[in-house]
Amino acid sequence: MGTTANDDLDFDPDALRDKYRAERDKRLRDEGNEQYVEVTGKFSHFVDDPYVEPGFEREPLTDDVDVVVIGGGFGGLLAGARLREAGVEDVRIIEKGGDFGGTWYWNRYPGAQCDIESYIYLPLLEEIGYIPKEKYSFAPEILAHSRAIGEHYNLYENACFQTEVTDMRWDDEALRWEVFTNRGDTMKARFVCMSNGPLNRPKLPGIPGVESFKGHTFHTSRWDYGYTGGDANGSLTGLTDKRVGIIGTGATAVQCVPHIAETAKQLYVFQRTPSSIDVRGNKPTDAAWSKSLEPGWQHRRMQNFNVLVSGGLQDEDLVNDGWTDIIGNLVTIMRTRKAENLTVEEMGARVELADFTKMEQIRTRVDSLVDDNKAADALKPWYRQFCKRPCFHDDYLPSFNQSNVELIDTQGRGVERITEKGLVVDGREYEVDCLIFATGFEVGTAYTRRAGYDITGRDGLELSDKWANGLRTFHGFQTTGFPNCFFMGVTQGGFTANFPHMLNEQSLHIAYMISHMMNNNYHSLEASQEAEDAWVDTIKSMGIFSQKFLQECTPGYYNNEGQPGQGNSLIGSQYGGGSEAFFKILRDWREEGCLEGLNFS
Ligand code: NDP
Repeated sequence: MGTTANDDLDFDPDALRDKYRAERDKRLRDEGNEQYVEVTGKFSHFVDDPYVEPGFEREPLTDDVDVVVIGGGFGGLLAGARLREAGVEDVRIIEKGGDFGGTWYWNRYPGAQCDIESYIYLPLLEEIGYIPKEKYSFAPEILAHSRAIGEHYNLYENACFQTEVTDMRWDDEALRWEVFTNRGDTMKARFVCMSNGPLNRPKLPGIPGVESFKGHTFHTSRWDYGYTGGDANGSLTGLTDKRVGIIGTGATAVQCVPHIAETAKQLYVFQRTPSSIDVRGNKPTDAAWSKSLEPGWQHRRMQNFNVLVSGGLQDEDLVNDGWTDIIGNLVTIMRTRKAENLTVEEMGARVELADFTKMEQIRTRVDSLVDDNKAADALKPWYRQFCKRPCFHDDYLPSFNQSNVELIDTQGRGVERITEKGLVVDGREYEVDCLIFATGFEVGTAYTRRAGYDITGRDGLELSDKWANGLRTFHGFQTTGFPNCFFMGVTQGGFTANFPHMLNEQSLHIAYMISHMMNNNYHSLEASQEAEDAWVDTIKSMGIFSQKFLQECTPGYYNNEGQPGQGNSLIGSQYGGGSEAFFKILRDWREEGCLEGLNFS
């Protein structure tokens, strides 16, 4: 490869820039998020719960509780735990699934594993007294831990499972929320806390003919073991005589493809954009290390990781893995800016070179693991590291060396058509018995659509109307016109690579506000208009990545499918100063103790 001004590089930055642009352009689609099909109507069976027995019934509830928490994933569990610790006892979690676990309740596909180190990802390890078995936990262990949190904090007692909120209305006279569900409940709550999850609603690609396939089909977040056989560890014996097609090559597909490949008679992997896949390097927990841990170790470790990946300095890198390596590298370069008096442009150029270097390693790794040159070329990602979610896996790429596995690269266009019998790409029909959608989750659509219910606040104001042109919150927690209502997740808060870290900070903050209200006999609390306006301005002026970076990225949910300025972009709507700075804002605010920015009655 030729070089330009950078003679010591073994790649040509200009050529790479051109290649990245050309690859992105192939994928840009005018429809953006509209290219996907909502899982309603004739597609609603894709979200049926395969993990519960049919026929569950219970009497509708009409009672009154202090706090209703919506969502029984890590966010809801942490909110429940922190509320209990703050002395708020009357808490009810409402959960659509048949148990706690959220993401880990739904995503039970073979090979499901968390890419964030278990010792910082699994919440409340010290409180529960548990040490994960490996550096990177597999899904069953994480689901079991979710249950353990529910048991430990006695959150099962008052929980409503297999229950979906359908509507929520504020009663200004009673100073209560009325919560309606699909089980006929009309319960009342003094406070509501929403932790619906950022990737909770599966999406399907709007490929022509998607409804016409007559074979067996399901989404990865509702894995059908009744059909495939086996379990989360693999051994999918039901597929030995089956031709399987899987659409999608994101983090989910990367983990389940090796297991399908192991048993399926034939596997076609339909690819639109390849993922970047780095080394996994999992290992069992060292018993001597876990015995040596001092109280407070988990929070210190979480913070160490978060500071490092947010641009701060730490004496040592405790987690020391792919995340601290790739993010830390970029951050180190940014840090040299001051020392070397670099202009913003010079620093940007250095970061870009580091990014090119890392992605060249990722592409070289593909060549070293995939025998067939054509397949290897197609599996190489041509975009910057954080255009898409980086993946870590040691078995995915070698799967393509198996004679029963074929990569169908759609050259960025996606599957052309789905027929009764299979999938069409470049005019050729690939007949399959089973079609698996590894096509991810809704991100950029309206908050209330993803939640599955609207919320009516004071004076009949609906949240879908209020947020029609984007989120409006104070610190990500409250929105004016909706008293005693708290949001968790990615609603203008601090974005963390380790998602439960942010959920934990949010839970502590919400528990502080609610217990403060209850202890002082306040009836309602609401963000003031001025505080909300100021926070929205802060979010807008500090967009976490520059518009330019996202604009140049290949489409995906990080950049709102190639339209970063529009919709509810996952990353663009978070606090741009970074999560560490955001957590400090929250801590300082609590320490001041005057609940600045909130109106009370
Ligand atoms: P993604 O949204 O990441 O991937 C969806 C895939 O479907 C993409 O490869 C996409 O291609 C493809 N696709 C969509 N439409 C079409 C089409 N018409 N034709 C062909 N392909 C199509 O979903 P995932 O479930 O893989 O992951 C979602 C997120 O969940 C991850 O980003 C991660 O945050 C989290 N996760 C974490 C894991 C972990 O910790 N290990 C494991 C699994 C998930 P294209 O890229 O071109 O849009």
